Amino acid sequence: MKAMMITKIADLDQNRRPLELRDVPKPEPGEREVRLKVLACGVCHTDMDEIEGRTPPPRLPVIPGHQVVGRVDKAGPGAGRFKPGDRVGVAWIFSACGRCRFCRTGRENLCPDFRGTGRDADGGYAEYLTVREDFAYPIPEVFSDAEAAPLLCAGAVGYRALKLTGLADGENLGMTGFGASGHLVLQTARRLYPSSRIFVFARAEKEREFALELGAVWAGETGDRPPEKLQAVIDTTPVWKPVVLALGSLAGGGRLVVNAIRKEDIDKNELLKLDYAGDLWLEKEIKSVANVTRADVSEFLSIAAEIPLKPAFEEYALEEANKALVEIKERRIRGAKVLRISQA
Ligand SMILES: [Zn+2]
Ligand SMILES: [Zn+2]
Repeated sequence: MKAMMITKIADLDQNRRPLELRDVPKPEPGEREVRLKVLACGVCHTDMDEIEGRTPPPRLPVIPGHQVVGRVDKAGPGAGRFKPGDRVGVAWIFSACGRCRFCRTGRENLCPDFRGTGRDADGGYAEYLTVREDFAYPIPEVFSDAEAAPLLCAGAVGYRALKLTGLADGENLGMTGFGASGHLVLQTARRLYPSSRIFVFARAEKEREFALELGAVWAGETGDRPPEKLQAVIDTTPVWKPVVLALGSLAGGGRLVVNAIRKEDIDKNELLKLDYAGDLWLEKEIKSVANVTRADVSEFLSIAAEIPLKPAFEEYALEEANKALVEIKERRIRGAKVLRISQA
């Protein structure tokens, strides 16, 4: 089968074709696993973090991609949850141990043996992949393959971030950055907290317009002060300046949730501008989001189907994965990027 593989750690500024197209054997499903014929796979900022070495795969080469929509093509021994032809998704959580104190208390996202799809195991930038059947999710009919893909990471992790804000309906929510995750989080927030007002900070005029179209009450540049204090902010940017600025916009007791697996170091010195009195005092909190649980993904897919949430996306062929990644690196983003791998 064809696969786009990470074969070495590389900087996308220097190497604009870091993934190699290879022909590799079709994987065989193991105990309680299913094999999927991949229909579509989302391209995520985290894929770039893997390639550039901020969260490097433990073994190379590896097939990246953790927003996978496919059809069950073959079941392994003991697997009976799905029928051949069922359309299912695979998210960032590829597996967790199921026994540790995190796994036993609904926090499998923090499991020390957490394995990420497309980093610790082969992912969806390929024609087929195998996954444990209890780590796959039925995809609601209402979504096309390409629409469903970004829901599995950008959407599901965004949903987890939204839960972690502890927002109450009617409280103001801020969002810094408005990429693949942002536009899904905004629409989900409007559904879950209908009386809350949403304020968006984004660098690009187009992103700000898009936020207003989707129902934000205000959209400004990263350095602008919103007209009202915010009870919670979700940061989806890859850098630091928006974090420091967002803390300054929080009300007392406010929560900032950083939704990023890694931050880039390019503007780390911005952290020195943190002013304790203005930015942190008054019991402001900062929290990061780590991974997702299967419950996050399932809950989010059903909320998304009720809305129904229709992600904005651009499609690329499997062989164009490098192009999609370079565009993410250069922040040429409107909505999500999805590889179209098979039609059936
Ligand atoms: Zn992702
Ligand atoms: Zn565990």
